[in-house]
Amino acid sequence: MVEAEVVRGRGLGLSGLAPRVAQSEIRAMTMESDLVGGVNLAQGVCDTEVPAVVLEAAKTAMDEGHNIYTRMDGIARLRRAIAEKTERMQSIVVDPEREVVVTSGATGAFHAVAMALFDPGDEVLLFEPFYGYHVGTLRSLRVVPVAVELDGTANWALDIEKVKAAITPKTRAIVVNTPSNPAGKVFTRTELEGLAAIAKEHDLFILTDEIYEHFIYGEARHISPASLDGMRERTIIMSGYSKTFSITGWRIGYIIADAKWIPAIGYFSDLLYVCAPAPFQHATAVGIERLGKTFYAGLAMEHEVKREMLLSALRDAGFDPYVPDGAYYILASMKGLGDVLEGENAAQRSRSLLRKTGVAAVGGSAFFRAGKGEDLLRFCFAKKDDDLEEACRRLRSLT
Ligand code: PLP
Repeated sequence: MVEAEVVRGRGLGLSGLAPRVAQSEIRAMTMESDLVGGVNLAQGVCDTEVPAVVLEAAKTAMDEGHNIYTRMDGIARLRRAIAEKTERMQSIVVDPEREVVVTSGATGAFHAVAMALFDPGDEVLLFEPFYGYHVGTLRSLRVVPVAVELDGTANWALDIEKVKAAITPKTRAIVVNTPSNPAGKVFTRTELEGLAAIAKEHDLFILTDEIYEHFIYGEARHISPASLDGMRERTIIMSGYSKTFSITGWRIGYIIADAKWIPAIGYFSDLLYVCAPAPFQHATAVGIERLGKTFYAGLAMEHEVKREMLLSALRDAGFDPYVPDGAYYILASMKGLGDVLEGENAAQRSRSLLRKTGVAAVGGSAFFRAGKGEDLLRFCFAKKDDDLEEACRRLRSLT
């Protein structure tokens, strides 16, 4: 009798992608901060108060039995609220039946959009310093992120020539994050118009992550690329309420796009997440309906005060902070600190800061290609006033 040959496959082991999927430095610092009882300015968890009306509405929604799957693109009431708000605040007309998908946060939105629009090997431009999840998500789909550096000597201005130089026949899209994490950059109309012209010329999508749209300071104004002339068809807006309502754990985000992209995006959002949490969809809808201009203006004002508080403490401690126009992070240079913080790179020096002051920040290298960002730390100021005051007091003790 001939013995059947044993077919041996590739064996036990991880996928080709897996070794590259390291734990994010932000989460690592959060864990280290928790271990020593530090004040965590590393993660954008946003632990400010949830608006009472939103909180109450979530409880009511659960009591009323909204605890089951929703339509894959979200409940009609929330899609309507998102469409109305977008038209009211950004003058972008949105059809809630055909142009909105409610997603599992802006993170789920980006993943579903990338699956729907890109193939392995496609190139997607994004701006450096970048948000790590954008890079990680693209890589997880074998899409190639191509970083285009912003000018750190000119408050992160965009050099449109660098964008043009980065385009190849494989380029499919440009990712814009405005206001941005970590730089707090709010793209100007001129910059966005420059990107729009390039997108039209090379037939590219613009993916715009606008999760911090309501966190805007001073003279800065939030402009969605979708509102620019002739850009609606090729712009995919990704946003959500994690930050605006301080509900990062609820996972409520959304996509606004031309109706022709929505079925594929919706398909992948369904495949990955089925739907966003049902009671929280209801609560977010109530929040959007009830909280108007005054709420959003108050949110920006409240965070502008927090920004000033942290900027001042960082300067007193010897850092040289960039002043963000939006979002709620500060990138601060450690150059002026000499060797007050020990370590050879940003990750080590952030740990030294945690040891010396009990304040957790993230090493700037998490937001740049290898070898860059080593003299920067990122601090989050979306914290309750008491915690932020304590962090400022501890930072001032550094020198
Ligand atoms: N996009 C950016 C730029 C972010 O900074 C964050 C959170 O830090 C997210 C998306 C995540 O948003 P969500 O909680 O809606 O997934």
